[in-house]
Amino acid sequence: EDYLSRLKERETKIKSFLYVSEHALQEAEQLDKMVAAKSPLGPLAGVPFGIKDNLCTLDMPSTGGSKILEGYRPPFDATCVRKMKEAGALAIGKTNLDEFGMGSSTENSAFQVTSNPWDLSKVPGGSSGGSAACVAARQCTCSLGSDTGGSIRQPASFCGVVGLKPSYGRVSRYGLMAFASSLDVVGCFGTSVMDTAILLEVISGQDSLDATSSLLQVPSYSSLLPSIGSLETKPLDGLRIGLIKETVVDGVDSGVVSAIFKAADHLQVLGAKIQEVSLLSFSLGLPAYYILACSEASSNLARYDGIRYGNRAPADDLVSMYGNSRSQGFGQEVKRRILMGTYALSAGYYDAFYKKAQQVRTIVQTDFKNALKDCDLLISPAAPTAAYSIGEKTNDPLAMYAGDLMTVNVNLAGLPALVVPCGFTAGEGQKLPVGLQFIAAAFDEERMLRAGHIFE
Ligand code: GLN
Repeated sequence: EDYLSRLKERETKIKSFLYVSEHALQEAEQLDKMVAAKSPLGPLAGVPFGIKDNLCTLDMPSTGGSKILEGYRPPFDATCVRKMKEAGALAIGKTNLDEFGMGSSTENSAFQVTSNPWDLSKVPGGSSGGSAACVAARQCTCSLGSDTGGSIRQPASFCGVVGLKPSYGRVSRYGLMAFASSLDVVGCFGTSVMDTAILLEVISGQDSLDATSSLLQVPSYSSLLPSIGSLETKPLDGLRIGLIKETVVDGVDSGVVSAIFKAADHLQVLGAKIQEVSLLSFSLGLPAYYILACSEASSNLARYDGIRYGNRAPADDLVSMYGNSRSQGFGQEVKRRILMGTYALSAGYYDAFYKKAQQVRTIVQTDFKNALKDCDLLISPAAPTAAYSIGEKTNDPLAMYAGDLMTVNVNLAGLPALVVPCGFTAGEGQKLPVGLQFIAAAFDEERMLRAGHIFE
């Protein structure tokens, strides 16, 4: 009741939710009965959580932030949602996002613009802006999101919460509306690293419904986190951390850079050995990402044809029915990406764009692999700026894309990354949060969580 009333009160200003559950209280009462009967409870019993609206839910609409799916009710829960429910967590609602995850500010939602709880005139980041804002505003305890090129990490940074992007394959994608299947991962937000470790443990694991989910056993991440001792004990002693040189250069907001350097100093005080490392392919990732993500999206979004899901526009024949449903149902950014992806994949351009982008992807992966031989973890800002004003970049898609510089390479390489609030930058009148990104080798979430937990 406490969470629901706070949710409703703050929602008028923040607008993180597209839908608020009507069953959460009943489910909580069910748990009360289990407590009274001394039945065993799951690890997240009674914890209210938000769900990004591109994750399918059985008892709540799932729109992906798109008009084409307005009112759509899937006949199943995404695997991550099912696992949260099995752990006893209470789904409190569906959170706002950029349409199908395409965007960095949540302004591309077909339904509403979400505000940053720190400053209502700023964006919360995106595409999981609703999931980050609802945790920052304490409308719920934690939330699920998805990250194709930074959609968990950049909003976590803008909203001053912890955001975790797992390794590709760690969490089942079953029930996540596909944007770019080779890059998409499900992850989570919390107010502490410990919370995200507990969530990761719950949602991870092999799933017969997602052939790319890994067979690797799921460690008990939360019990592996060390207790936080005094600074004198140097809890990070011996940990080799590489600060990615290309991420703290001119062009990156000076307030962000100074917060990151301070964070690096703090890690050093805790015993870590910080060295600067250079990733020569760093700036190649962004163009490669946009070619690959758009190419995959153009294929994945073919399923929205007005027949199988969501809205159908009236028309006289089949072809105009497809055409009308798609032109009325999709927003501008989604159309732009379908066009770019179709172009990049078309005969005659394939070698110049798609194939070349795949080659760049291999180079990015190799560079990370080499850097992670000399270092246990890498660090960088999660975004080149703090939260910016609503409307500031809506007419400039390239400026919006450029904001993803710090995050997309990690998806190209399939690595896990964690964003932890590390300070503030002074915006106009108001200080805005800055997030520190930790990047680890594939399936080395544990090391990244341990460092983030102590740093916090
Ligand atoms: N901002 C990036 C994009 O627009 C990443 C989005 C995401 O991770 N879903 O593609």
